[in-house]
Amino acid sequence: MKERSDSLTLKGLIAAQSRLPITHPTVSILASKQSIIEAGIGGEQQVAEVLQRYTFPFKNNIFHDLSLSSDTYFQIDHLLKTPHYGVVLETKNLAGSLEFRDNPPQLIQKREDGQIKYYESPVVQLERNMELMSAWLSQRKIDLPLYGAIVLAYPKQHVEIPPADTKILFPNLIPPFIKGLPQQGKGLNTSTFNWLSSELLKCHQTYIPKPVCESYQIPIGDIQPGVRCASCGKLGMIKVPRTWHCKFCKVNNHLAHRGALVEWFLVVKRTITNRECREFLGVDIHTATRILQSLPLQTKGTFRNRFYSMDFKRFPFK
Ligand SMILES: [Zn+2]
Repeated sequence: MKERSDSLTLKGLIAAQSRLPITHPTVSILASKQSIIEAGIGGEQQVAEVLQRYTFPFKNNIFHDLSLSSDTYFQIDHLLKTPHYGVVLETKNLAGSLEFRDNPPQLIQKREDGQIKYYESPVVQLERNMELMSAWLSQRKIDLPLYGAIVLAYPKQHVEIPPADTKILFPNLIPPFIKGLPQQGKGLNTSTFNWLSSELLKCHQTYIPKPVCESYQIPIGDIQPGVRCASCGKLGMIKVPRTWHCKFCKVNNHLAHRGALVEWFLVVKRTITNRECREFLGVDIHTATRILQSLPLQTKGTFRNRFYSMDFKRFPFK
């Protein structure tokens, strides 16, 4: 029903790195964050593939990377629902040997190089997500039992001490686990089951991260401005009548400013003024006005103090 969406966090991190000098102190921090996110996405994709390949002998719908809010905002890696129950899967990608401590809840990772790292226990994350999911369902008067499990997607994971009451699975063990869950009662009827699917899709909200400069305290002046060429990836496309021209690979692209503005909102700030737009894209005031007004941006303030912000749900990314 729902595939995982492009991570805006990842997009922002990549864009920020390419707009900072290589020697900038934040670059290595952004790069390591990027690899953690990529590993996470890799693990989720692996789980998604296992679920897609497998044909369950009962009606089911699968949702990947679902962001909902009940009492508070929450994000579920994978939700599988059948008329009789829902299954919440939390994916983890950590190499080495893992110890799940219950009191206090903690995950301890011993890596092959001997390094020891401490994390919030995924058991706590899973329980919190299941509570929030159950609250979300009760707000809609849906009575559906929920089961949960932690999936270790990274191939070199070894569990030294498993958690006391939570199921830990490797990807290929997910189908038998799901098939083994009890199907009690009458379950949801077809119309409720279908309504629930569309309600989940309707309520999903794209996660919009804080701009990278804000999250990592990078001075805005450190960010290199310019419009990026989608063909060669270099910054510095030039505005010529009706289009943008890349002086490196000679390609023209009349929509190149869109990608640059998406990068602004992900990297620099949530809002943009006409002046900031001019400086970032390297255009004159009239072109900046035309560009800002041609896009589905939200506006606030009047004339000289007007600023624009992005509605990520409506913006054409591709
Ligand atoms: Zn180019």
